[in-house]
Amino acid sequence: MSSHVVYAGKLAIGGGHPVSVQTMCNTDTLDVDASIAQCLAVAREGAQMVRLTTQGPRQVKALAVIREKLRDQGVDIPLVADVHFSAHTAMEAARVADKVRINPGNFSRDRSRVRELLAELFEICRRHDTALRIGVNHGSLPLHILETYGNSPEGMCQAAMEYLTICQEMDFPRVVVSLKSSNTRIIVQANRLLVQNMKALGMDYPLHLGVTESGNDRQGRLKSAVGIITLLKEGIGDTFRVSLTEAPGAEIRFGKLFLPVAKDRSQPASWDELIVSAAYKWAPGLLDGTIDWKTLPMPFIEAPFASKEELKEFCMDLLQATRCVFSSPEYISCPGCGRTKFNLEETVRQVKKATSHLKGCTIAVMGCIVNGPGEMADAQYGYVGEGNGKVTLYKGKIPVMRGIPQEEAVQRLLELIESQQK
Ligand code: SF4
Repeated sequence: MSSHVVYAGKLAIGGGHPVSVQTMCNTDTLDVDASIAQCLAVAREGAQMVRLTTQGPRQVKALAVIREKLRDQGVDIPLVADVHFSAHTAMEAARVADKVRINPGNFSRDRSRVRELLAELFEICRRHDTALRIGVNHGSLPLHILETYGNSPEGMCQAAMEYLTICQEMDFPRVVVSLKSSNTRIIVQANRLLVQNMKALGMDYPLHLGVTESGNDRQGRLKSAVGIITLLKEGIGDTFRVSLTEAPGAEIRFGKLFLPVAKDRSQPASWDELIVSAAYKWAPGLLDGTIDWKTLPMPFIEAPFASKEELKEFCMDLLQATRCVFSSPEYISCPGCGRTKFNLEETVRQVKKATSHLKGCTIAVMGCIVNGPGEMADAQYGYVGEGNGKVTLYKGKIPVMRGIPQEEAVQRLLELIESQQK
């Protein structure tokens, strides 16, 4: 899909420029030194853009200091403010960041004011040379969209199109758009639909790709690779973020393996390279059903460094990432960000260890109570950090146990799931 170019700082997104790789800090944005150190670290890894949680005016001020100090050190990596639940904060952030991400699911509680608020935001962006991302998430669609389209690829697409139509009418082209889900089939369908809808209305906004809350380790990498690479192969996508519950540098190191799209990947030399080459070769057919997985020999992938048993397990994980077969629990875990007040990576490891026998369950582990419950989409059970060492456990979208001490929470989650399965 051809797109027009949008600049975030000096980074050109779209317009035929190479696809870029980005990540997000998981530091507290108010901890300026830690955030600068992480921005520098990911820039050294090759990140071309980095996003920081920007909850309110204090974080906007911290972001301005972070930007200035990075520039003082000669580092001009574009900084993106990630804003939820506050149009006012988005406007403040647009004065200091290179790009601002807003979410149509929570930009304004009052739908009748969206147009007026966007007009004000566009004006600030014009004055300060700031780009916007309209970032739709499957788990947090606006209520009126849910009522009309349900929690579906079409709903995600329409949520974005409402905002893009306003951008087009107000002649504000400096917009990148994203539709994210932790479900690989949904993100592929939603992005294809968005491309069709944009084309029909003469729009060519660049696309940011990502499989959100994809988790960690091989499962997380496979989900991200399957979703993003399937779209990149079709020429859809101008920038992407691999979202892992791991350090942001790991997202960049893995994401860089996706590029360039046309690279020969017939001799993978590591597990990460194997994930990427397998996604290029198998993901589109498995996702779309043009490859019948039931007819494939096991294993159907070869690698000189792996045993037959290891490759069988790998193939089962690939079939799960493409949502053909669910042979182990499905984990949804966010990457964590400045809102996370506990050790998310370690918690995910503990939850996985305690629940690895619960085949067929979808379990979410989310880093904050503000966005976590909304973003965990169709998880059957959720572990959501409240902060202050406390956890809320969810059954579906319903909080069933609040204020659980963190040290007990994994065991309580296990008991909750097992009590429901009797
Ligand atoms: S769910 Fe909360 S902690 Fe996790 S990435 Fe989203 S905002 Fe950050």
